[in-house]
Amino acid sequence: MSSPRIRRLALLAVSFAAASACRPAMSAAQDTPLRTKVLLIGLDGVRVDILAAAQTPVIDSLASAGFFSDEAKTRVRTVSGPGWSSMVIGARTDRHLVDSNDFSGNDYATYPDFLTRIERERPELNTLAVVDWPPLGTTDSGGPLFSDEIDVRIDFDGELDGYRLADSLSVEAAAKQLRETDVDAAFVYLGEIDVVGHETNSRSPQYRAAIEWADTRVGLLLQALRDRPTYADEDWLILMSTDHGRNDAGGHGGTSPSEKTIFFLASGPSVEPGRTDCPPEIVDVAVTALAHLGLGPDPAWGLQGEVRGLKQ
Ligand SMILES: [Zn+2]
Repeated sequence: MSSPRIRRLALLAVSFAAASACRPAMSAAQDTPLRTKVLLIGLDGVRVDILAAAQTPVIDSLASAGFFSDEAKTRVRTVSGPGWSSMVIGARTDRHLVDSNDFSGNDYATYPDFLTRIERERPELNTLAVVDWPPLGTTDSGGPLFSDEIDVRIDFDGELDGYRLADSLSVEAAAKQLRETDVDAAFVYLGEIDVVGHETNSRSPQYRAAIEWADTRVGLLLQALRDRPTYADEDWLILMSTDHGRNDAGGHGGTSPSEKTIFFLASGPSVEPGRTDCPPEIVDVAVTALAHLGLGPDPAWGLQGEVRGLKQ
């Protein structure tokens, strides 16, 4: 098993002075604004009808209390490279230029991931990315998608260690960071669901079980947030989505509804609960994350998503 590559370009500052002034939510004492924070959990290759059939009590409880759509769409190729790029940047392939799992030729310099965007706009905020698909965090295949400007990036290697193990290590490492450090914005990636989908098919008991297993990992991340000593003074936006669905055989890359349909989940004190008749798009994820932290979107950034699910 390889050890994780942990990079710290900046120490996480233990400062509680950076609360956003633009959110209305207040603490119980009603005297100080809650500090806005965001956690995006990315589950690779989830088909929404199997998610609905699976026993996923953690995701279900987030969805029932939050803003949820299982009719969200990706309008880029149903391949992981363009899918994750579009989701975490907030712009499609015509902007970031990633159209396959070859990430070389990207324009991430102009269109960075949302955590890098946060670092450029508000460098005092603390950002965290925990990933185990190598192009997301390393130079593999022309990556990384998540740049070196992020404060703490922790890379495991699902290709080398297997995604079941690597995802477990990712969740363990992310939970420790979320519990013990003053992180403001985080992304955690889980790849096991997609691998099982490819190895079996979309209707296999193994694929469904992989979704259920991921649900328990999500529960560990949420528990880590609740364990934070400052949790009562914080306004965590939990975002969750997937990069593409899949066809019945378990593959993806095509344009069928089961491949292009994804889910969009937002939960937290600043979320307007309910369903929507206007399905979100994959690029809405990053834009919503940025908005929760009081960041734009500035039209000059060229983002293509909209803010979804947040109270006005
Ligand atoms: Zn994928």
